[in-house]
Amino acid sequence: MQNGHGALVVEDIHKSFGDLEVLKGISLSANEGDVISIIGASGSGKSTFLRCINLLEIPDRGRILLKGEEIRVRRDASGRLSGVDRARIQHLRARLGMVFQTFNLWGHMSVLQNVMEGPTLVLKRPRNEARDEAMALLDKVGIAEKHAAYPAQLSGGQQQRVAIARALAMRPEVLLFDEPTSALDPELVGEVLRVMQGLAEEGRTMIVVTHEMGFAREVSNRAMFFHQGRVEEEGPPQAVFGAPQSARCKAFLSSVL
Ligand code: ADP
Ligand code: MG
Repeated sequence: MQNGHGALVVEDIHKSFGDLEVLKGISLSANEGDVISIIGASGSGKSTFLRCINLLEIPDRGRILLKGEEIRVRRDASGRLSGVDRARIQHLRARLGMVFQTFNLWGHMSVLQNVMEGPTLVLKRPRNEARDEAMALLDKVGIAEKHAAYPAQLSGGQQQRVAIARALAMRPEVLLFDEPTSALDPELVGEVLRVMQGLAEEGRTMIVVTHEMGFAREVSNRAMFFHQGRVEEEGPPQAVFGAPQSARCKAFLSSVL
């Protein structure tokens, strides 16, 4: 914790799409270095929750605080965001690194360009510095030798490691992962989980939506089980996985383990 504030505090987030209430009041508090895994059935609202945290979706209700600073956004009567709010959202996104299930690398850019783009364009860092840091990050995720390759020339596991390097290049305060290994062939899952485990061991603050129960159990220090837009159960992974209290969590775990 810094300055007595949690690294990321999310309070009572609600989100509906039309008549469908997808998030029914979700709260989360992450201290520096926490690794929180979010598990739950498909459709329970996990992705929507992560997207609300970095304002890819605007929550209908609730608060998001980064290091104690509240991120407020408002829509006008027509549902549009003001310019001020748009600038705030950009600023917030730069503080949160997001890694998606489907990598989302820019196909027309080399691996190195993918990692340098944000720091040079958004953070206005000098190219030489950004290049050095990008190469160091590619080395960290074990893929520096592919820096000149294009995404299509890489395996899914390699692309996802590049995506992680790209997120890290923005020096985010919190990393958000949305099922980062779900699109990978089974033999490629391990290389990505090992990189994520390394980040956890470095003390990064991470929120990880995952179906990898081994990772959730071994690497995270808190687990949250989502059911139909609510947190049905949460606690230390030993408790959530070892002795779940809720019947729904128990049933979910026996279906996936
Ligand atoms: P999960 O990630 O747990 O599988 P999601 O957050 O993706 O769940 O989805 C939760 C529910 O919200 C699903 O019923 C899904 O169809 C719905 N949903 C998600 N995004 C949208 C959207 N943009 N518009 C309408 N419905 C959506
Ligand atoms: Mg999802």
